[in-house]
Amino acid sequence: MKLSRVGEEGNEKPALIDAEGKVRDLSGEVEDFFPHLMTLELRERLARLDPSSLPVIDNPGRFGPPIARPGHFIAVGLNYADHAREAGVEPPVEPVLFSKAPSSVCGPDDDVIIPVGSQKTDWEVELAFLIGRRAFRVDEAEALHHVFGYMVCNDVSERAWQLEGTGQWIKGKSAPHFSPLGPVLVTSEEVGDPQSLGLWLDVNGKRMQTGSTSTMIFPVAELISYISQLMVLEPGDIVTTGTPPGVGMGMRPQVYLKPGDEIRLGIDKLGEQRQKVVAATA
Ligand code: ZN
Repeated sequence: MKLSRVGEEGNEKPALIDAEGKVRDLSGEVEDFFPHLMTLELRERLARLDPSSLPVIDNPGRFGPPIARPGHFIAVGLNYADHAREAGVEPPVEPVLFSKAPSSVCGPDDDVIIPVGSQKTDWEVELAFLIGRRAFRVDEAEALHHVFGYMVCNDVSERAWQLEGTGQWIKGKSAPHFSPLGPVLVTSEEVGDPQSLGLWLDVNGKRMQTGSTSTMIFPVAELISYISQLMVLEPGDIVTTGTPPGVGMGMRPQVYLKPGDEIRLGIDKLGEQRQKVVAATA
């Protein structure tokens, strides 16, 4: 099942994409994809619907992020060994975790906004997953049963703010429109093995990142088990799982985003995003 939200920013409707690619209105079934509603029970109820009974949205227009906002938005750093090398650090021995502000989320094709004062805005294609069942101290063998579904995330990053000051990476990961999500949330049974998905990202038509989730240092099941030893994961929480090599910071010389650039990125089975890069006006 592919779930989505369509409409103008702040006024999206929950929707289902049927087998023919038609966008079907779910607003008669659920108010919106609010984090506390994103349970496996909701997923099962929606899966039992006959899609042909739902109204078609003929001109869906903009796609929003597939959930209204994350509860907690956790990110994993340096989860591909070759990306750790390009970042100039040793691959971590346990997962590196940080947060992204939930307010950084935007739609998959919304503009990426370079914040005022930024010199080093960078891109990162990532597999993100949505939690659908409370997870606390779960074993790896049970971990994937807590996943609602998967989506594409561009973990946009301001490298100076992330790395050159003091404190935590959240500083460089959280500006408005720094987390395009979607276009669709694909439920776990339709994705199958999350560790066999190709990922790619282009800037201005040039391929910058190519990778596969098969080379993650800590796969999804291990991440859920690890994080759940430290905190409770709840329905509506999102975890984005790290990026393969090819970010601007890793180039020699380094390359960062500038107004007018176009980013395209995608992951097998999860669709594509396309963003125009603009400068913040305030
Ligand atoms: Zn990242």
